[in-house]
Amino acid sequence: MILSIVVPCYNEERALPVFYAELKRVLSEMGVEGAYELILVNDGSKDKTQSVIEELAAGDENIVYIKLSRNFGKESALYAGLSNVRGDYVVIMDADMQDPPSMLPEMLAAVEGGECDVAATRRVDRKGEPPIRSFFARMFYRLINKISDADIVDGARDFRLMRRDVCDVIVSMKEYNRFSKGLFGWVGYKTKWFEYENRERVAGETKWSFWHLFGYALDGIVNFSQMPLTIASWFGLFMTFFAFVMEIVVVVRRLVFGDPVAGWASLVCVIVFVGGIQLFCLGIMGQYLAKLYLEAKGRPHYIVEKSNRADVEKTG
Ligand code: UDP
Ligand code: MG
Repeated sequence: MILSIVVPCYNEERALPVFYAELKRVLSEMGVEGAYELILVNDGSKDKTQSVIEELAAGDENIVYIKLSRNFGKESALYAGLSNVRGDYVVIMDADMQDPPSMLPEMLAAVEGGECDVAATRRVDRKGEPPIRSFFARMFYRLINKISDADIVDGARDFRLMRRDVCDVIVSMKEYNRFSKGLFGWVGYKTKWFEYENRERVAGETKWSFWHLFGYALDGIVNFSQMPLTIASWFGLFMTFFAFVMEIVVVVRRLVFGDPVAGWASLVCVIVFVGGIQLFCLGIMGQYLAKLYLEAKGRPHYIVEKSNRADVEKTG
């Protein structure tokens, strides 16, 4: 049995040594000392992450590093790692110790024992997070579960352990706009949830500002649901019907009461209102079109600049 551990790293020079030491400790506790590969994907870090990684790799032949040619984002870095695993079981985790390695033994036991295909984790609280962020996060999960057929669990982390065949299925989905939580929800399989309390990252800073997260959430919705398009269509239909009824009312009123229609101000309001709705719906369509445009180009998800494993593909 070989355990593949995929870790995307972006500016993690300070967290990595701490993470590695803790991971080693847990692995030797689990008795998988030699039987693992640690795939560190350097996602175009701007600090000394690469030299830290190479130093670690020099002292441990189970470390595979993949250095990307620039910062492609966590999803692409993950994809690069997952595309190159060789193990029988695959773990995804962050380098910042927010995903505690100490949970690995029970996660592996659950999957190895056949209790489930995927051992996933979720945070039971959002301690240490700004309240406004928690609020929007909750709203997002409520919304996306209503409008998408992918089951996306509130507080779910990307920290997972899965059987190799599940990983292969995830990699076979080559869509350019990747939203891992959604992909995992979409493929299904028997998933067991492990809960833990939120913890602060051990060093460095989070790369997710509020607006960054907000954009990510919108992306998730566009990637996993056609609901906004449906809403736009229904709204258009409703407005048309409403306008039709109003026209009849105006005509009848003119014929029966001889009422000259007054007020261009209200007319302007209506025109502007309808114009706004039209632009809004056009914007929604544009969002989907933009995604389609990116998919159609079929560009690689990542470009590998350097790796210590010979058979890592240059692009993928
Ligand atoms: N990460 C990455 N590329 C990026 C941003 C982040 O590979 O462009 C990695 C980062 O090094 C870490 C993980 O993704 O291992 C999660 O990032 P972070 O801790 O900033 O996110 P948070 O835990 O705050 O959601
Ligand atoms: Mg983190």
